[in-house]
Amino acid sequence: MAIRIKKGRSGKSIRSIVQEMSDVDLSLCFQCKKCSSGCTVSGMTKSPPSEIIRRLQLGAGDEILERDIIWTCSSCETCYARCPMGIDVASVIDALRSLAIEKKAAVPEGNVPLFNKAFLKTVRAFGRAYDLAMIGIYKLGTGTFMKDTEKFPTMVMKKKIALLPVWGADRKTVRRIFKEVDRDKGK
Ligand code: SF4
Ligand code: SF4
Repeated sequence: MAIRIKKGRSGKSIRSIVQEMSDVDLSLCFQCKKCSSGCTVSGMTKSPPSEIIRRLQLGAGDEILERDIIWTCSSCETCYARCPMGIDVASVIDALRSLAIEKKAAVPEGNVPLFNKAFLKTVRAFGRAYDLAMIGIYKLGTGTFMKDTEKFPTMVMKKKIALLPVWGADRKTVRRIFKEVDRDKGK
């Protein structure tokens, strides 16, 4: 597939910002596409991870911040594990996600950003993800109160969802990380 890109505007390129944030050398990628063939969300994205890396290599501008994988990536790190060059693609996508928020880039349709926010809120509060609170925040945001409720008893019975939060072991560190991120963002 031919990739068309719009060059970044003046100032620091998205590529250098992403390289700095992720500590990844993007020039190492030789487009073998092993990351994309193993990507757990490849069926749900129009821009597989290898394409994102290629776009960055070619000097993509702010439009890359609107690619759907920024929000569908589950940070499973399969791409990283499969990459023969040891490229941490998940960190690259993390960096793009932060940039997309910072630059208020258009988000693709869907509720993934809301889910992301719900996830982070529970990690901040409990030191690790708390499914029930995440579901609550998500449902409040989407208004889908009754959707999938029939699955709830089975999930509780099979211990897939804990009713009470399991507190993270090192909440102090998690709190400090969130504070540092807030400070960097000038909050
Ligand atoms: S697996 Fe690594 S080298 Fe291959 S395309 Fe993906 S990032 Fe590039
Ligand atoms: S970390 Fe993201 S891009 Fe990499 S394999 Fe997992 S879902 Fe795909």
